[in-house]
Amino acid sequence: MSEALLTPYSFIKVALPVPMRTLFDYKVPKAIALRHELKPGMRVKVPFGKSSRLGVIVALSETSDWDPEQVKPLTSMHDQSPVITEELMALCEWAARYYHHPIGDVIFHALPVLLRKGESAEFRTENWWLTTPEGQSLPLEQLSRAPRQQDFLKAVQQHPNGLSQHAASVLDLAPAAGKSLEEKGLLRREPRSFNKGGEKHAHQTQVPPTLNPEQMRATEHLLDYRHQFNVALLDGVTGSGKTEVFLRVMERLIEEGKQILVMVPEIGLTPQTLKRFEIRFNTDIVLMHSSMSDRERLDAWLLAASGHAKIIIGTRSAAFIPAPNLGMIVIDEEHDTSYKQHEGFRYHARDLAVKRAQALNIPVLLASATPSYESLTNALQKRFAWLKLRQRAGNAHIPEMERVDLRGKTLIHGFSEHALASMKLCLERKEQVLVFLNRRGYAPTLMCHQCGWIAACDHCDVNLTVHKRANKLHCHHCDTQKALIHTCPECESEELFTVGEGTEQIETQLSTLFKEVPILRIDRDSTQRKSAMAKLTQKIHEHDQAILIGTQMLAKGHHFPNVTLVIIMDADAGLFSSDFRGMERTAQLITQVAGRAGRAKKPGHVLLQTYHPDHAAIECLCNLGYEHFAIDGLAERKSLSLPPFYHQVIIRAESGNEQEAMQLLSAMRNDIEPYFAKDVYLVGPYAAIIVRKAGQHRALISIKAAQRAPLHQATQMMTEWLEQSTKQHRIRFAIDVDPLETY
Ligand code: ADP
Ligand code: ZN
Ligand code: ZN
Repeated sequence: MSEALLTPYSFIKVALPVPMRTLFDYKVPKAIALRHELKPGMRVKVPFGKSSRLGVIVALSETSDWDPEQVKPLTSMHDQSPVITEELMALCEWAARYYHHPIGDVIFHALPVLLRKGESAEFRTENWWLTTPEGQSLPLEQLSRAPRQQDFLKAVQQHPNGLSQHAASVLDLAPAAGKSLEEKGLLRREPRSFNKGGEKHAHQTQVPPTLNPEQMRATEHLLDYRHQFNVALLDGVTGSGKTEVFLRVMERLIEEGKQILVMVPEIGLTPQTLKRFEIRFNTDIVLMHSSMSDRERLDAWLLAASGHAKIIIGTRSAAFIPAPNLGMIVIDEEHDTSYKQHEGFRYHARDLAVKRAQALNIPVLLASATPSYESLTNALQKRFAWLKLRQRAGNAHIPEMERVDLRGKTLIHGFSEHALASMKLCLERKEQVLVFLNRRGYAPTLMCHQCGWIAACDHCDVNLTVHKRANKLHCHHCDTQKALIHTCPECESEELFTVGEGTEQIETQLSTLFKEVPILRIDRDSTQRKSAMAKLTQKIHEHDQAILIGTQMLAKGHHFPNVTLVIIMDADAGLFSSDFRGMERTAQLITQVAGRAGRAKKPGHVLLQTYHPDHAAIECLCNLGYEHFAIDGLAERKSLSLPPFYHQVIIRAESGNEQEAMQLLSAMRNDIEPYFAKDVYLVGPYAAIIVRKAGQHRALISIKAAQRAPLHQATQMMTEWLEQSTKQHRIRFAIDVDPLETY
């Protein structure tokens, strides 16, 4: 047999994690071709520049576009089988084109960190403890002199299928005691592959509630269409039982042997959510989120890829998780902006999930109480099925929203008298109050009374936030931290004072007003440590009366059954935003926070403190609700030719030099705008609202078009131009397709 038949390809095209929008050709040495069956999706070691790199094969080819003599041979194979399935490779290729992002970076993004670094894609083994026949029958009293051994043996005796080393440490069993028992021949150890678990936690079953008619209708629809691609928007007010609906559909698909991917917002995955799934499903559930270790993420990835995990609950990056029997993708709180990656590879996990489901011919379910304008438009135009739940589930009622006019009123620590009186009554009823203020820290500004000096960040055009408890001044944009000062650096006066208030200040002040009441603050500062959030939620559930103070973290998916009063301290905060999405975000935030009130049997009440009680937006939201508000907002977007009616791309440039970024984008516009199709519109370049961030001066240019094709073509031209022009300069640029931020 000729060798040509054995090796139908002589070259491979390899993706490397480098910022170049291209694949790299390598020769396949005969020795490797004879020993390995090369496939796209396998990792390979290749020479690159003066060193060698790990890359991923994207294609096999008989020819190369380069001079074959110049093409270097690959160094070695890294995998026996692909780490990127054909399905995911196609998704990555699509994403690289759609987002105009380097393919290598996309593919590496799709892999867990340890696989990017070369770890093998195999289950690790773990030692399991098992009893020997003697150990199983030994009466425990015989170990009464060695209590730690007694505990250890007892635990293993209770687990006839074995106890993993991990479980032993969770149970606080002393490893030395285990070793002694092993030496006595009472225990033995057995290495097991990570996927061959065995210790299922005792399954707590719970009778699911009877669905109400709206839930029933939605469930039936989803079940009818469960075997084909379609997108359904489950648009249900907070507490309407959306989760209950998708649990039903998941149940059926899991019975049919399918895997389900449930996506949740970055910080929306509460211990409560997981518990709810665990109680409901006696099956393997894996999590995938940013506070897991790299090894934990790889384990989860392997369990999903092998088909063991039936339910995968994950944040944004889980959109790329392999799952051979994927049967449905659920995106909870689909409006949440954390689904969009805000730097580097700027993809939107929801849009990617829809694309993925289409290729797999499986359904997507988008759930939200405040759907994004994009999804609402798709529902209005009948591209998505629109399933509405307008009643709260069980006996709960929709809370009443009341505007509190702050004009001319005396405020006590930022609260109106009416708000404080309502708070007092609520606490007297042994219920909980939630105070919402979307600003963490003690105060947003530190100022000198004598000379007007303001503490500003050295690297950004913003003021530093005062954090009294940590005794720091903190930049919320670049993370610079300084010690809190007490003397003005300009005039040496000691009369420094704070302006405005953040959650930390409200916490301090409320604790002087309500001395006996537990006060719990929930924001990024108070929940930094792992499991801090779990502890806080536990405390909330332990107490009957309590005051919860928090930022938007509180708005996400939490269920606090005893909260009956919500106070929105500053409902005006988002009213005058310069971003055209400002109103949408404000309405979502207010509606979500308000939705925390009265989720159980007790009725809820919401107070919105505002200086603009007659502002059309606030009035509409309070009286008519989110859907009405959004439909009005969409009419306005349409009249202004804004997304989602027009498609948009933003190009950002940044440089350490004040003028450079702006000049670069101007030059680009001058050079290539004449070649654009007629219906492509450019705005800019314009300076970012916060021009300087982390020492970089930032400029943007916006391009929009009613059709995707000409916009895509224009973006392609600009990308090529920028790649050429920035080779010599130290200017960074980024392409943002379907941007959520435009300033
Ligand atoms: P959502 O996801 O819309 O916020 P959930 O599914 O979390 O709503 O439901 C809110 C609460 O109501 C949960 O405690 C849930 O167990 C309960 N619930 C849901 N559906 C019903 C029902 N049909 N009857 C009674 N209680 C229900
Ligand atoms: Zn001063
Ligand atoms: Zn800064």
